[in-house]
Amino acid sequence: MTRLLLIGTPGAGKGTQAQRLSETFDIPAISTGDIFRLNVKNETELGTQAKAFMDRGEYVPDSLTNELVRDRLSHADATDGFLLDGYPRTADQVQELDDILAEKNQQLDAVVMLSADVDEVVRRLLNRAIEQGRADDTEDVIRHRLDVYEAQTAPLISVYAARGLVITVDGLGEVADVTGRIVDALAERGISKN
Ligand code: AMP
Repeated sequence: MTRLLLIGTPGAGKGTQAQRLSETFDIPAISTGDIFRLNVKNETELGTQAKAFMDRGEYVPDSLTNELVRDRLSHADATDGFLLDGYPRTADQVQELDDILAEKNQQLDAVVMLSADVDEVVRRLLNRAIEQGRADDTEDVIRHRLDVYEAQTAPLISVYAARGLVITVDGLGEVADVTGRIVDALAERGISKN
């Protein structure tokens, strides 16, 4: 029963690490960005609403995002643990997640903060733009996403740090090395797959 959050700037490698941690801990990796992209692709109502914000590098409104996460966390596979990748990103979302967990009598085990150098992050995102063709990976939008992260999401780290939950891990280097660092840091806190 491991409940984790993964926080970090766009391009810090959250998605990649989320997949790997999901396997290691045998918990679902829930990425709000992936869920939004799937909805955009399938042209659902939610996708249509989210797309305009995503294309501009803005956050999707809290009301939509919170509803999506509340629903996703009610699925059976999330009962015994989860890893949230890219949520919460605003103070309002932190409050919503607190409420959801309190209602279920559940608690977070740790918040993994993946740190990464800005220039490296921009380089990675521009590469991803070429490889995956994401509409929000152009340089202007990337810079804007980083600004939005700094303004709205970076302050959340101190909120979780005050609760003693934050583990900061260097996100640079080989994918497997970064996973190793995260797993080791979690193990030091007594968090491991049981
Ligand atoms: P990501 O793949 O996590 O970088 O998310 C891609 C985009 O989806 C973001 O730039 C936002 O537009 C939107 N998004 C993902 N997660 C959230 C969230 N927790 N709150 C608001 N918008 C989000």
